[in-house]
Amino acid sequence: MTPSETPALADGEDDAPRPALAMPPMLTGRRGLVLGVANPRSLAWAAVEALSAAGARVGFTYLDARAARRALPLAERVAAPFAAPCDVRDDDSLRAALDGAAAALGGLDFLVHSVAFAEQADLAAPLHACSREGFRLALDVSAYSLLRAVHFALPHLSADASVVTLTYLGARVAVPLYGLMGPAKAALEAEVRYLARELGPRGVRVNAVSAGPVKTLAAAGLPGFRERLREAAARTPLGRGVTHEEVAAAVCFLCSPLSGGVTATTLHVDAGEHAVSP
Ligand code: NAD
Repeated sequence: MTPSETPALADGEDDAPRPALAMPPMLTGRRGLVLGVANPRSLAWAAVEALSAAGARVGFTYLDARAARRALPLAERVAAPFAAPCDVRDDDSLRAALDGAAAALGGLDFLVHSVAFAEQADLAAPLHACSREGFRLALDVSAYSLLRAVHFALPHLSADASVVTLTYLGARVAVPLYGLMGPAKAALEAEVRYLARELGPRGVRVNAVSAGPVKTLAAAGLPGFRERLREAAARTPLGRGVTHEEVAAAVCFLCSPLSGGVTATTLHVDAGEHAVSP
């Protein structure tokens, strides 16, 4: 199964545009690329919309020709200056996307990484039974891709650029049914800290947003996701879950000069779930 064939929300489900975000103009004049738009429910798409609403010029990538059918029409909604396929397993594809975006935008002030994948069979199995190849693939797509994306972006990043990735609580605690994605996200969060240390001297900041569960294509592929969504909402300090827009607003903040002193951090946008015991 390829990533764009993950058991999905039904075609067209939830594709209607959400109400436009009223964002303060914190990103006027800034330019950047968002990796990982699959459809209008993608957190990557929520980020593109929010970043655009905050004044940025934003390009985005989608996986492949199959994904283009739902992702590409979205480009018109925000007059995206760049939209192209990118498979993070392929260096040439990733490099071409970053070079292409930088050329179209005249440089990059931010890079948002919103990409993850694991095979269904490896997600459904107990973690100790995960296949070697399944582990390699999940870590490659979900964690190594951040390193590679930053590596290829580096020549194009401005002096005060910001890199943001998307993670989940399962990186830090053993969440039921998150399985293989837990170690993948743990690696991703460690990368954030090491990249922040490496790139800090250049002025580049690197952070993660740890989102509470929201309904997306990738999330729908996780065993027991719908139950998890319900349970998580019931036990957060806010007594509810979070929205795509709330996650995207945090991405905007981390991409903006308002977070100039913030790096090497995982910012939880989960209605407080990370801080309380069930
Ligand atoms: P999504 O399915 O909309 O996005 C995942 C994206 O990864 C898709 O666009 C998919 O095409 C892409 N992808 C998979 N394999 C790829 C590859 N080889 N090359 C390039 N792209 C590839 O789902 P989402 O929930 O918006 O996921 C975005 C990020 O948010 C992921 O890192 C996910 O782990 C994270 N996250 C999601 C939730 C949630 O509840 N939805 C919570 C916390 C974190």
